[in-house]
Amino acid sequence: MKNGLMTIQERMALERCVMPQLAADVRIRSFDEVNRGLGAHQALMEAKRCLRCRDRGCVAGCPVGVSIPEFITAVASDDLPRAARILRGDNELPAVCGRVCPQETQCEALCVRRIKGDAVAIGYLERYVADWAMSNPDRLLRDPAPTPTGYSVAVVGSGPAGLTAAGELARYGHAVTLFEALHDTGGVLRYGIPEFRLPKEIIDGEVEFLRQQGVVIECNVIIGKTLTVAQLRSQFTAVFIANGAGLPVMLNIPGENLKGVYTANEFLTRVNLMDAGRRDDNPTPVIKRREVAVIGGGNAALDCVRTARRLGAERTMIVYRRSETEMPARIQEIHHAREEGVEFVMLTAPTALLSTGDGWVSGLRCLKMELGLPDASGRRRPEAISGSEFELPAGVVIIAVGTVANPLLTASAPDIPLNKFGNILINSDGATGVPGLFAGGDIVRGGATVILAMGDGKRAAVTINEYLERS
Ligand code: FAD
Ligand code: SF4
Repeated sequence: MKNGLMTIQERMALERCVMPQLAADVRIRSFDEVNRGLGAHQALMEAKRCLRCRDRGCVAGCPVGVSIPEFITAVASDDLPRAARILRGDNELPAVCGRVCPQETQCEALCVRRIKGDAVAIGYLERYVADWAMSNPDRLLRDPAPTPTGYSVAVVGSGPAGLTAAGELARYGHAVTLFEALHDTGGVLRYGIPEFRLPKEIIDGEVEFLRQQGVVIECNVIIGKTLTVAQLRSQFTAVFIANGAGLPVMLNIPGENLKGVYTANEFLTRVNLMDAGRRDDNPTPVIKRREVAVIGGGNAALDCVRTARRLGAERTMIVYRRSETEMPARIQEIHHAREEGVEFVMLTAPTALLSTGDGWVSGLRCLKMELGLPDASGRRRPEAISGSEFELPAGVVIIAVGTVANPLLTASAPDIPLNKFGNILINSDGATGVPGLFAGGDIVRGGATVILAMGDGKRAAVTINEYLERS
């Protein structure tokens, strides 16, 4: 230690912190958040592990380009107001990203410390600073309000892409109105991701911050029904479309219309947005306390199975046609699910959903699979093993094999360019080619991630600002 500063060797000797968590036997009885957040000393010591690298590999790995070494250095100096200002300057939803971003494949994957051990826990520090900022609004260093430009922008959809674009555009001084079809904001953050991973008050806090920046939010407005895209284009100087990709993909196997079969979106929306299963007097029901099989291996599948577990399912299973190595879900969520008693039925593909004749689902007929050569996605292709058929009992089946673009909005605006899957086509700056019309997030990419959607929103805001300056 020289002049109170740690040497590189001393920094290298510090071990990565461990996130405090609710014990598995406690958390399966509630929707309380599993990860509890770092304490002040833990955060300080973790921040000191950062080497403040000149080439900033971590920043290159972040789709919204957060100034990672700079905000971590501020944490290491115990200057949380500065850390919060730096973080918020780059990221409109830091408390969300600190919880749900797959840092292990992004910023932390490119952290120099990973070469000889564990990456700096960038996500945990991001969450720590963002949570501190939410609890200490009086200590935040705020920028002066921008001068109004006189331009107005409509944003469609209040998921991470829409919220980010809205916040960035408001910073330029444009008048932003955000339209949301549902009765509440957040998109998948609210209706998809359960509270044990992302509490609603965190989304409320982030949205409130945007409102304070002047963003006007109008819920219960379906663009394509309540208002048309053409109406938005005549009332606003520019329009950013970020309506997500919320239409569930089905398996197209017999039995999918049996009672007790849900899609992931329906099941999670019922529980997360309508409180189904969590209050006995709730008018929106959900079947619970049976053997629950969730088909799929992504974050949505894990969220469904862990939700079912918390609603008291007798047995909870993930049924996935590849092996655990190929599962697209975050490693942390797989680990948490296993701790919570979820069974992983791997290398298994359902071929039919079964019923005993009363109209209710009673199980799945499945085939065992083996992995062949990699397919277009780079993952090894599952191939059926002949004669391996077997049955799996289940009183609830949840299909969580992905979502695609919902055509409701785009069908009402035929000049928007689409690909064959119904996703909006844009150039690398987020422009659709139709004057004044921009798009980003899952409606462009298909199902992706929160941070990629946010990156699209941020990039489109720059493009829209340039467009407005030219107009
Ligand atoms: P969305 O979040 O889908 O938001 C679109 C919004 O537009 C919605 O609010 C919708 O109601 C609204 N809308 C739709 N149509 C209209 C219309 N016609 N008019 C007005 N409004 C409309 N990613 C991660 O990075 N980490 C995770 O842990 C993670 N977990 C996930 C868990 C689940 C269950 C799911 C389904 C996805 C998960 N993802 C995760 C993916 C991530 O949530 C999405 O990629 C991201 O939310 C896409 O953001 P978006 O803004 O493009 O769209
Ligand atoms: Fe710090 Fe890792 Fe980024 Fe280097 S790569 S600045 S050690 S977070």
